[in-house]
Amino acid sequence: MSEASARPIRLGLVGIGKIARDQHIPAINASPDFELAATASRSASVDGVPGYRTIEEMLAAGHDLDAVSFCTPPVGRHDLVSPAIAAGLAVMIEKPPAATLSEARAMTRAAEIAGIPFYTSWHSRAARHVEDARSWCAERQVSRIHVEWREDIRQWHPGQEWILEAGGFGVFDPGINALSILTAILPKSVVLSAATLDVPRGRGAPIAATLQGTSGDAAFSADFDFLQTGEQTWSIHLEDAAGETLSLIEGAGAMTLGGERQPASEDSGEYPHLYAHFATLVREGRSDVDLSPLELVADAFLLGEHRATEPFSF
Ligand code: NAP
Repeated sequence: MSEASARPIRLGLVGIGKIARDQHIPAINASPDFELAATASRSASVDGVPGYRTIEEMLAAGHDLDAVSFCTPPVGRHDLVSPAIAAGLAVMIEKPPAATLSEARAMTRAAEIAGIPFYTSWHSRAARHVEDARSWCAERQVSRIHVEWREDIRQWHPGQEWILEAGGFGVFDPGINALSILTAILPKSVVLSAATLDVPRGRGAPIAATLQGTSGDAAFSADFDFLQTGEQTWSIHLEDAAGETLSLIEGAGAMTLGGERQPASEDSGEYPHLYAHFATLVREGRSDVDLSPLELVADAFLLGEHRATEPFSF
């Protein structure tokens, strides 16, 4: 996009739902790098922005787009994203990148062949203390890693039936955020050795899960729960061989060392970081693709013991 490098990147946004409204649209509107030029969503639009029901209609409408950002659920991403790649547009996708590894790899390969910037975003990696935790892990021998990611599905995903359908990831929809942080901060790969997946009768995806494994010499465990009421927990606890501890809490928006909460630095927020990074990728013609969090979720489904639990309704 050399001719466009001096002007804002003209962006199409696909899938106008909760995360588009809560985070993407405010971040895009506040960014000097982007102009929201058009949207595609079956039943929603954004005031003042030309809206279309399908991506094909949006691409055909001649808005001189440079890039498209996708905020739809993971199932169906490959079919949605392919026309944007075929049109030669840069692509950014919400986590998780796709419902399957094969789809995610097919999109990545298609983007490589087309020579377009392709960004599989992981918003939790842009949380305030992720880089602090990465430095901490790099300087010592981590011996224990425990993830507690417990939230109330009814509070955070009201009426999102797709999330408990096959391909909707269930509790791994938030849980993959913890895995995206872990795979960014640990120097050694996480390898799963066991998992349990609790799937409510009549649903296609787990409402709770546990993971066990290793990262080098460190023992790894995770507890994911979608039925947590009251206080919500998005924590990663790390301990080194000398017994020193670091905990990322509040989704890595806060951190404790030896149990003491650390001061918070100024931060613009996760989604402004994501869009600033995407702008750099678009202007430099580069991609940023990491499927390792998705690989761990896929492994949990491959390895895990599936247990039927009580039916769930929103
Ligand atoms: P959502 O509220 O259900 O919105 C998704 C939108 O995508 C829908 O409003 C729908 O708009 C469109 N869509 C296209 N195909 C769909 C299908 N088969 N089923 C349902 N909707 C479909 O979901 P969301 O919470 O925004 O999540 C979307 C993505 O963002 C997911 O990958 C999720 O992991 C990620 N995310 C969500 C959050 C969060 O807090 N909710 C946070 C970070 C990331 P139309 O009906 O108009 O087409």
